[in-house]
This record gives sequence, C-alpha cells and structure tokens, in this order.
Amino acid sequence: MPGAARQYAGGVATSLSTSLAATCPCRVAEEHARSYGRCCAPWHAGRADASALPQSAEQLMRSRYSAFVLQLADYLLATWHESTRPRSIDFDPGVHWLGLRILSTRAGQESASRGVVEFEASYRAADGVGTQHEKSTFVKEDGAWFYLDAL
Ligand SMILES: [Zn+2]
Repeated sequence: MPGAARQYAGGVATSLSTSLAATCPCRVAEEHARSYGRCCAPWHAGRADASALPQSAEQLMRSRYSAFVLQLADYLLATWHESTRPRSIDFDPGVHWLGLRILSTRAGQESASRGVVEFEASYRAADGVGTQHEKSTFVKEDGAWFYLDAL
C-alpha cells in the first residue's frame, strides 16, 4: 500500500510511535524485558548522523525487526545493503507483529565483517497466527552493519 509508511525524519517519530519506557518490540517475546529507550531507540535515532550504530549483526537484526513493527521505512532502507535494497517498503496493514526470537548467530560480532542471524518472527494476520523463520545475512562496511539477504 503506497503511502502507508510515513517518512522517517531522523528521529523516533513514527506512524506507530511507542514510548521509550515501553518494552522494545524486539524483546516482547523474551523473559528479560528491555525498554525501547534502552534497546533499539538509540539505533533508530542515531542512524541519520551515525551517532549510534549497532555493533553486531544481532543488534542490527533486532533494530530492523523493531523498525518493521514501528514502520520506520527509512531506517529499514538505510540499513539495507545497496546491492539488494528495494526502492521502497510497503507495510502490510493486515499484519500485526507479535515478537522476535533469535535462534542462533554465526559470526557478526563487532570484529567481524559478515554475520548470519537465524530468527523466528511471529505475527497475526487475517488468516491467523504465523511465523516467519529466516536466516539473514549481514555485512559490515565502513563500520556500519547492513542487511544483505536471506539464506
Ligand atoms: Zn530492541
């Protein structure tokens, strides 16, 4: 649906804004909750001027999941490697994301330049609850992690 996602203006203002004190969207399925302000918010806010960048592939994975939940299209595009980046992102208004579980990570630490993160993201749609299971690959260039593609 073109136009469903509002422009990301470098801050955390979103079409589905969340409180900094609320549990981060990437943590709601976990036992140990962490607030949005102490999890993905700094990355969402810091991307525009590179004042805060995820240090690992898992952190980028989390911040991108949260960005999907919060419909931060510009953040998703900015963290998508230019070789595979779509021209725009349309959010499906019929999909409600329920939670993220990181299943495994391979490489992707601060010192690495590539990483793989396997995850499950659950959602509720018109036809019921489902799960997206994916192994995402990430690359780091000039100190910044980017989503590359899915294995
Ligand atoms: Zn988070």
